[in-house]
Amino acid sequence: MAGRAVLKACKSCRFISEVSTCPRCGSETSKEWQGMVAIADYEKSEIAKKMGITANGTYALKVRA
Ligand SMILES: [Zn+2]
Repeated sequence: MAGRAVLKACKSCRFISEVSTCPRCGSETSKEWQGMVAIADYEKSEIAKKMGITANGTYALKVRA
C-alpha cells in the first residue's frame, strides 16, 4: 500500500475529500480540520440538520478557514 491520502475538508460545506477543490460545491478545501462525522441519512440526522448538511457523506465538524 502506498501512503494514505491526506483528507481535506471543504471550508464551505465541510465535505471531506482528498482533493484541493471540493467535489461537492467547488470551494477550497483545508487540511486543518477536526472531527469527522459520517452522515448516512441526512434527512433523519440531527447533526446534519444542525450543520446544514443536505447530502449524505463524510463531513468535518470544524474546519479552519
Ligand atoms: Zn464544499
